[in-house]
Amino acid sequence: MQFSRLRLNGFKSFVDPTDLVIAHGLTGVVGPNGCGKSNLLEALRWVMGETRPKAMRGGGMEDVIFAGTATRPARNFAEVAITIDNSDRLAPAGFNDQDSLEVVRRITRDAGSAFKANSKDARARDIQMLFADASTGSHSPALVRQGQISELINAKPKDRRRILEEAAGISGLYQRRHEAELKLKGTETNLSRIEDVIEALA
Ligand code: ATP
Repeated sequence: MQFSRLRLNGFKSFVDPTDLVIAHGLTGVVGPNGCGKSNLLEALRWVMGETRPKAMRGGGMEDVIFAGTATRPARNFAEVAITIDNSDRLAPAGFNDQDSLEVVRRITRDAGSAFKANSKDARARDIQMLFADASTGSHSPALVRQGQISELINAKPKDRRRILEEAAGISGLYQRRHEAELKLKGTETNLSRIEDVIEALA
């Protein structure tokens, strides 16, 4: 999965619309302390469906919206868009109708966040699965936070296994298994209700 463009608007310190072209090969981001390098990585993680405010270094998800400075008022929304090169047409069904795929996530104060894929409304789960199956998801070990290396060294074997599973691209299967188990439970409950009704009628 090749990212080709990242757009930010009102996301953390990126209050003005910012458009970054991501070329093939290695991309480096350099700048003085506090200029927003980590915010860029967080924008990537967020647009791929991150749901934990802590992973965004915030107390709540709305903390990703530009909070204002002494000279500029706070914004009411934040938006991040990532463009993926889909010229090889490897995107899953439902996302595969064009040579590029643009995923947009927008959060509005007091109204939560919503996703769009190529301008069409998309479910958070489908966006998370799209990136998880491509091993680039918001939990991907390819995105290394500050302090994460020492966390990995001290991690329990089970947590380390999760990293290998993410790299192997099978982490989406766990979510699907969990959903299948919930459906199974619901069906078992329905069956036992039907049995009760049949017994009552007999
Ligand atoms: P370092 O090199 O020190 O790790 P960095 O370049 O990674 O720094 P970031 O941590 O990405 O910088 O950016 C920090 C800046 O982002 C701080 O100035 C902080 O005030 C600003 N910032 C974070 N969240 C918001 C927000 N919601 N609204 C406005 N500014 C924000």
